[in-house]
Amino acid sequence: MAGVYIHIPFCVRRCAYCDFFSTTLLERREAYVETVLKEIEKRREEAGAIRTIYIGGGTPSTLEASHIRRMIEAIGAPDATEVTMELNPGDASAEYLKAIREAGVNRLSIGIQSFQDELLRLIGRRHNAAQAIKAVRMAQEAGFENLSIDLMYALPTQTMARWKEDIETALGLKVQHISSYGLMYEDGTAMTKRLEKGEIEAVDEETENAMYDTLCQRLKEAGFVHYEVSNFALPGYEAQHNSSYWDGTPYVGIGAGAHSYLPPARSWNPSDLNAYIQGIEGGSLVRESETLSEKDMYNERIMLGLRTSKGIRLDDTQRSRAGRGQVAGLDRFSGLLRLTEDGRLVATQEGLHVLNRIIEELMI
Ligand code: SF4
Repeated sequence: MAGVYIHIPFCVRRCAYCDFFSTTLLERREAYVETVLKEIEKRREEAGAIRTIYIGGGTPSTLEASHIRRMIEAIGAPDATEVTMELNPGDASAEYLKAIREAGVNRLSIGIQSFQDELLRLIGRRHNAAQAIKAVRMAQEAGFENLSIDLMYALPTQTMARWKEDIETALGLKVQHISSYGLMYEDGTAMTKRLEKGEIEAVDEETENAMYDTLCQRLKEAGFVHYEVSNFALPGYEAQHNSSYWDGTPYVGIGAGAHSYLPPARSWNPSDLNAYIQGIEGGSLVRESETLSEKDMYNERIMLGLRTSKGIRLDDTQRSRAGRGQVAGLDRFSGLLRLTEDGRLVATQEGLHVLNRIIEELMI
């Protein structure tokens, strides 16, 4: 069973920290959706049986509910168990939420990021804390029983006390899933420019790690399963679509900049609105692709698997291959990785702080 991802690359305005592919040319939405519908029609067969649909962005909630409905209908996956859509709190209204639920969306991922107005302004979000809380309540009233919210930490001027308040507010909302990311200073973003000019100060590594540990600890106490480095769910509410990225399930990516994974091939559409629309409309879309070698696949398993609480299974072949100077000295990861009884390698809490370094060392 595969997943389908649809990328909606429109945002009302660009957030200060974001380097995702998106545009503020909202007037192109109609044309874009028509093109997406054509791509779905052309590539529907590639996906086979579909288990999950994820409409992400950008900001999918800049689209009309009728657009969402048409795209879900075009995919035609009556057996899909999870249909997620990302929602900006600023776009939520009772009417809109009801309409997208009727269109087939059964899970929302709400980009809240913070419950502190000051911090929301700092990172350039267009909603405020009251809107964020209201969006969750309205979604619940509209009948959504599977809600995820995003929260950010390690934001300039964010204190541990404020971060703890955010965690408690999130728990008070009774959502089923929380994704949380530390702020990254990506090249070329407004936040990075401000950092370089000395206008803002980055949170130090120790505080960032302490914020992450506080989050993990508190959510665990509240009954959440920490199933991926940045993702926490009440039992049974782990994101199925995102989990398929981590466990190597095939997926078809539709829309500008969307990636597809149909093993052993990975391909991607151009991250350019005009090139995408003209390419699909003219029947000449060039999708770049690469065929993953056995080594690439092994590295992907390390990279993605170690992010999850399941970790990676080291079978005998992998053990011997990896053993050549890679996993041989597992003791140098003492305290950072542990081997489970059923032979899986899993990152410890300490290991999660330095996960990228561990992954780099384990890749061949
Ligand atoms: S963070 Fe989300 S809403 Fe903000 S610019 Fe990036 S894609 Fe758009």
